[in-house]
Amino acid sequence: MVLRVAIIGSGPAGVYAVEALTRRGDVAVDVFDRSPCPFGLVRYGVAPDHEKIRSISAALGNVLDQSHVRFLGNVDVGSDISLAELRLFYDAVLFASGAATDRRLDVPGEDLLGSFSSTEFVAWYNGHPDAPLDTFTLDARSVAVVGMGNVAVDLGRLLAKTADELRHTDIGDHALSVLERSHVTDIHMIGRRGPVQAKFTTKELRELGEIANADVIVDEAELVLDEASEQLLATRPAAQRNLKVLRDWAAHLPSGRPRRLHLRFWQRPVEVLGATRVTGLRVEETRLDEAGNVVGTGRTATIDAQMVLRAAGYRGVPIAGLPFDDRAGIVPNAAGRVVGDGEPLLGLYVAGWIKRGPTGVIGTNKADARETVASLVEDAQLLPPAPNRDPEDVLRFLTQRDVRVVSWAGWQAIELAESQLGQQRGRARVRISERHELLRAASGAATL
Ligand code: NAP
Repeated sequence: MVLRVAIIGSGPAGVYAVEALTRRGDVAVDVFDRSPCPFGLVRYGVAPDHEKIRSISAALGNVLDQSHVRFLGNVDVGSDISLAELRLFYDAVLFASGAATDRRLDVPGEDLLGSFSSTEFVAWYNGHPDAPLDTFTLDARSVAVVGMGNVAVDLGRLLAKTADELRHTDIGDHALSVLERSHVTDIHMIGRRGPVQAKFTTKELRELGEIANADVIVDEAELVLDEASEQLLATRPAAQRNLKVLRDWAAHLPSGRPRRLHLRFWQRPVEVLGATRVTGLRVEETRLDEAGNVVGTGRTATIDAQMVLRAAGYRGVPIAGLPFDDRAGIVPNAAGRVVGDGEPLLGLYVAGWIKRGPTGVIGTNKADARETVASLVEDAQLLPPAPNRDPEDVLRFLTQRDVRVVSWAGWQAIELAESQLGQQRGRARVRISERHELLRAASGAATL
């Protein structure tokens, strides 16, 4: 009997799970995504100027474009169809839905006007259909970006680049026109620990020094290492490379470019200042204690900022019908098998960030998804067969609910429409952002 599997999420984790499953042979896989477009964070997370990483979508697309795999875009599992309902149509359900929200700073003023999560900003510039186009105006002169991970680096870079440096990408018209009119001159990236502990990778860090209109400013004093950092440095070649880049920058005087990217270390945010709107960020200088934990020194300072972007990491959200580990922000699992009350819940699986937390690069998801699929395949004989086995059944169910499913052909029609829009604008491709526009573009080819 053909094994019928639903995969929720068409980002790298979901697609690598499809790849591993289809190698097995007698499977039929339906991949659901709440966006009309596939590829998850490859489309909606990776920055527009990181074309090489984005080009992974071609390989991911080849996996989805197989005869026994269907893409069901624009379906929100949890509201359009519940997990219990899904199980009427599938022998196994695998969630690869990622980490949908951001980690909070838990400081006063975090929700003032002008304070945003990185997820909001990234979704906006990448034209996610759920992100309002008018969320950002970039009237701020000075922006504080909290965090020293690769997302913070993405935000710093995009704010520092000129619109001309992004025009060759597929960035949406809405974001390009706001970036063109940006008032931002100073971007302060705030790390609560030192340069050795920073999470960014060297390649991404170096790119900050290649921006046409921006100087990178690093204070030599913040690169001085304590004993614990020295010891850590000795074991981390990546941190050694980062430190070299940072020391080079610290040794150079700014060349007077119109924008400045200030990389600050040993500063933790203690309050976002302002009555209704952000007027600054109060930070406290930090150091490591004997146990290696960050502690405040009591010395505070105010960073001039009319906008704060919090890039403190992503966080998984609970999935209705599945257990959730609130501390870790993941679905508890053993090798990808969902675990409830200490026992694996047969037929339910997780892969990617909702399985292990928001860490690693895109390729990390390959081994992660393979592990989950190995568990699923091992269980296959034990799985009670779903009652509705006709592949059309789930489509009829969704149609009755008035859900406009976007098929793979629908996605290909969206791609074509984005290329045509690019031609009209004299650019290679321009992204379509609004859901109704995406559905209109897909409608010519929406049959599965
Ligand atoms: P991340 O790498 O975990 O970095 C989060 C940053 O926020 C860290 O510097 C962390 O500091 C800081 N932070 C956390 N809580 C804080 C708080 N309360 N106050 C101040 N700072 C706080 O997360 P990310 O940048 O969101 O990236 C997620 C994953 O996506 C990573 O694996 C990343 O490499 C990947 N990614 C890759 C690329 C790329 O390859 N180009 C681009 C984007 C994202 P501590 O270290 O002190 O906790």
